[in-house]
Amino acid sequence: MALDRKPAPNDLSAFWMPFTANRQFKKAPRMFVAAEGMYYTTADGRQVLDGTAGLWCCNAGHKRPKIVQAIQQQAAELDYAPAFQMGHPKAFELASALRDIAPGGMDHVFFTNSGSESVETALKIALACHRARGEASRTRLVGRERGYHGVNFGGISVGGIVNNRRVFGNLLSGVDHLPHTHLPQNAFSKGQPEHGAHLADALDGLVALHGAETIAAVIVEPMAGSTGVLMPPKGYLERLREICTRHGIFLIFDEVITGFGRLGASFAAERFGVRPDMITAAKGLTNGIIPMGAVLVSAEIHDAFMNGPDHLIEFFHGYTYSGCPIASAAGLATLETYREEGLFQRAADLEAYWQEGLHSLRECPHVIDIRNMGLIGAIELQPMSGEPAKRGFSAFLNAYEAGLLVRSTGDTIALSPPLIVEKAQIDQIFETLRKVLHGLD
Ligand code: PMP
Repeated sequence: MALDRKPAPNDLSAFWMPFTANRQFKKAPRMFVAAEGMYYTTADGRQVLDGTAGLWCCNAGHKRPKIVQAIQQQAAELDYAPAFQMGHPKAFELASALRDIAPGGMDHVFFTNSGSESVETALKIALACHRARGEASRTRLVGRERGYHGVNFGGISVGGIVNNRRVFGNLLSGVDHLPHTHLPQNAFSKGQPEHGAHLADALDGLVALHGAETIAAVIVEPMAGSTGVLMPPKGYLERLREICTRHGIFLIFDEVITGFGRLGASFAAERFGVRPDMITAAKGLTNGIIPMGAVLVSAEIHDAFMNGPDHLIEFFHGYTYSGCPIASAAGLATLETYREEGLFQRAADLEAYWQEGLHSLRECPHVIDIRNMGLIGAIELQPMSGEPAKRGFSAFLNAYEAGLLVRSTGDTIALSPPLIVEKAQIDQIFETLRKVLHGLD
């Protein structure tokens, strides 16, 4: 009962930070207080080059005037509208705009507030769609080892990150996992690696084991981001698509990271030429500025709901903030910015330069693999014996001290700069990393 009490500026005790070593952080906090273009400003006044687009989301860079204005204007005009049984124009406009950049046939959009919610929504759509089509026995879900699909119960059940699963006891039942595609013989591949298409055949194995009539959907990241930027082997996604089609199983691409230009095309589905039945998106949808996610759904799936029995409500699912006005306005301004500046194409045009710079780090100490495509890259380091992830985390800390934001995932350094990055800044990223790698224990 102390609403009138002003919070003490240096009190860090109340905020329980997500996916953060809180005790360590609070002894030596790293704080950003401003951002513009490619740079963050720290609390102690330093400029830090954003090598990760925030958390893989600020694809157009920071403080973009068009997006800032759209948010301000929307807040002043229509701040909020009920999400159920009521509409407002911006949500419809954004859904159409998304359909226009989506791979052909992904004609309908369901809005959420995050990647995790997009995943839960897509899994529920898959289950409900089979039921609406009279195939209620299709309840099994298939994910993949080393997959990351957010942190809600469906997402960690189909996900394959051990630490995100094992401390939470029982997860969803009826879930299987395909093998991951990270093979040692693919080390230092540029773009898609050669080996591993056959790993998709494990899905045929699951069909033989359980019967196709029990399997609802397969969900994979076309390129696994959070577990170290793992590219799909050549032919792998095509084979997964073929097996899913053959057995009436929905294929869901989780494009929360790969959506909105990261791989040099609107979506990875476009880049790889493989069309899933649903795409989950978030992050770059609003340039990271306002939480928003979306599920892009094929016409076939959507029609199953629309052609079903004439209930008052066709899909019992939704969020208070699904397609809320401010997020929709931010999304529209973001897509306009991407279009006006040709940012998806820019990522494609810079890919060769990016690749050359990244692979020039191959001779640096501890480097055991380098992976890349579009404007994303990863440098995998030899783990310190008995201390996994320590070397990767030291690289992150030392890069931050040297004025560069990278992300460490285990002992892999992940890079995904805003798509506005200039060649000189690409050089700066790799020169800084070269020094950091030479200074590591
Ligand atoms: N799916 C993928 C592929 C992701 O990379 C992420 C976030 N990194 C999520 C889902 C979850 O998104 P959010 O953190 O917005 O819930």
